[in-house]
Amino acid sequence: MLYERLKSIQEWLLPGTCMLCGVRIGTQQAFCADCELALPRVTDACPQCATPMAHSDSSGQRCGACQKRPPVFSRTHALYRYARPIDGFVQALKYGHRLELARVFGQHLAEALAPRVVGSVDLIVPVPLHRARLRERGYNQSLELARPIAARLSLPLDYRCLWRTRPTAPQASLALAERQRNVRGAFAAAPSVAKLRVAVVDDVMTTGHTVNAAARSLHVAGAKDVQVWVLARA
Ligand SMILES: [Zn+2]
Ligand SMILES: [Zn+2]
Repeated sequence: MLYERLKSIQEWLLPGTCMLCGVRIGTQQAFCADCELALPRVTDACPQCATPMAHSDSSGQRCGACQKRPPVFSRTHALYRYARPIDGFVQALKYGHRLELARVFGQHLAEALAPRVVGSVDLIVPVPLHRARLRERGYNQSLELARPIAARLSLPLDYRCLWRTRPTAPQASLALAERQRNVRGAFAAAPSVAKLRVAVVDDVMTTGHTVNAAARSLHVAGAKDVQVWVLARA
C-alpha cells in the first residue's frame, strides 16, 4: 500500500528539510533542488485534456481523443504525472489527513500556473465532495489545494457554487468503462457562475469524466468557459 510506505518516511515534514531525502534546505522550500528536478512534471501534453503526448505530436495540437469527442472544458493544466513520488503524496493528502501537503502542492501548482493563466479566469471552483463523503473525511482535498492557488493568483474562490447532487462510488474503484456513467449528472451549479470563466481544481485527473461532468453543469448554469487545473494527471 502506498500509504503504508509513506508511514515509513514520517520525518518528511520537519521544517527546513527536504520532504523526500531529508537534507537541510531553506524553510520556505519543500524539496531540495535535486529532488525538485526529479519530480515527474508534465511536459508535453494535450492542451485540452493534459494527456501525455510524444514531443513531436504536442506542438499545441489536441490529442486524438479530444479531436474526436471534445470534452466540455477548454483546457487542462496538470503539474505532475500521477507517478512516484507524487502518487504517494496525493494518497497521504486524501486519506492520511496530511493537509499541509495541500499548502505545499497548491503553492507549487500556483507558481506553475501564474504565467500561463493570467487574465483567462474569473473564478476558482474546487471539485466538491458529496456531503456524506465530506462528513466522513472531514475536509475536501480539492478545496484545500485551491485555497493557496486563489491566494497566489488573487482570484476569488467559491466552494458553494458547485455541488454533488447524489453520492457516487469512488472513481478509482470502478472499471474505466463504468466511470462516465458513475458521475454523469452528479453535479449541479448555481446561477452565480453565469458569464464567468471558471477554473475547476482537482487533485488527480484520470479519465477526466469527473471534471467533465462538473464542467457540464457549470456550462448549464451559464459559465462562459471552464478550464481544469489539477495537481496530477494519470
Ligand atoms: Zn531532496
Ligand atoms: Zn486531449
